[in-house]
Amino acid sequence: MVVENQNQQRVEVNILLLGARHVGKSALTVRFLTRRFIGEYGDIESVYSRVDRIDGQDICINIWDSQAGQDSASAKQLQWADGVILVYDICDAASFQAARQRLALLRRKPASARPPVVIVGNKRDLARHRRVSGEEGRLLALSQRCGFFEVSAAETYHGALLVFHRLVHLVRETRALRKSSAGVRGIVRSVSAVFGKKRAE
Ligand code: GDP
Ligand code: MG
Repeated sequence: MVVENQNQQRVEVNILLLGARHVGKSALTVRFLTRRFIGEYGDIESVYSRVDRIDGQDICINIWDSQAGQDSASAKQLQWADGVILVYDICDAASFQAARQRLALLRRKPASARPPVVIVGNKRDLARHRRVSGEEGRLLALSQRCGFFEVSAAETYHGALLVFHRLVHLVRETRALRKSSAGVRGIVRSVSAVFGKKRAE
């Protein structure tokens, strides 16, 4: 019964896509939402929603595909986001540098307010033009405790699915951890209140 009730609760996860211009943020988003690759996406900026069953629960995934060429995410976007997909193009070293810098900015927030991040090296189908090795991407992710995938939005749906679902999983894990550590802080506070009172008597 309890499990049933829990499952009926609506869980929402807000995902923000960040990354340099033309790395494939819109391509990944559209691939995930429609399973298709349409080639050209223009400079659309939009929030999309989709409900998926993940880890046995219906999750409403809201996706903010940030505008191409926008270098800095607005405070509003970051406040909205529960998790970030940070995209670069494996054929474009500058886009990897941009991702590295963006990550450093995200990591400046206090640990309790940092959104989980999945780093994505896109355009794997263009490997012969590769400028960023898989190792570089993986190391950056490891050093900053992020998820990491190399994918091709152009070639497969599966990669996009893995990326989004991994981030949903990380967001839910982070929420659970923060909830339980808030619980521990509450217990510590009430215990110290009791001891404080006794000392005062
Ligand atoms: P955004 O500016 O980050 O949203 O990038 P877009 O999604 O608009 O993609 C920029 C360009 O890269 C478009 O011409 C896409 O067709 C192309 N593109 C996106 N993903 C891939 C990919 O995985 N492989 C290849 N070869 N091209 C891609
Ligand atoms: Mg775009």
